[in-house]
Amino acid sequence: MKKIALSACLLGESCRYDGTDNRNDFLLSLLDGNEIVPFCPEDFAFGTPRPTMDLVKQDKDIRALSNETGEDLSDPVIAYAKAFFDSHPDIDLFIGKDRSPSCGVCSARVYDSDKNLISSDAAGLMAAEAIKRGIPAKDAEDYTKDEEV
Ligand code: SF4
Repeated sequence: MKKIALSACLLGESCRYDGTDNRNDFLLSLLDGNEIVPFCPEDFAFGTPRPTMDLVKQDKDIRALSNETGEDLSDPVIAYAKAFFDSHPDIDLFIGKDRSPSCGVCSARVYDSDKNLISSDAAGLMAAEAIKRGIPAKDAEDYTKDEEV
């Protein structure tokens, strides 16, 4: 049995920016029998519903900026990620919702300051923290057929 950190919206929690979910029954069936630890940094930091945000490259850094106000929203997400992994040091696998600026593992979009798309295979802010800690990490969309997690 593995201990798996999973984006809460994939479990069916209505924590997306618009109050909907990304429930993925196929993935959940693959995860059956494992210990699931759900997380949602954006719901924790900003509540639901909330404005969307995009990853924007600034010098060497990638930051999450509000699409409504332009405010830099990165720090609360990063703080949540650090606290989450500190309190769960034995996570075996991180599965994030693909394309999310927080949870996407190899699928988050990054823009330049003029809103031009410059990458579609970046890590979101929480996924980046998992990768930094050496935790194996995958996007939910990578599970497309019956395979072991
Ligand atoms: S992708 Fe991540 S931040 Fe977005 S709703 Fe799902 S768990 Fe929350």
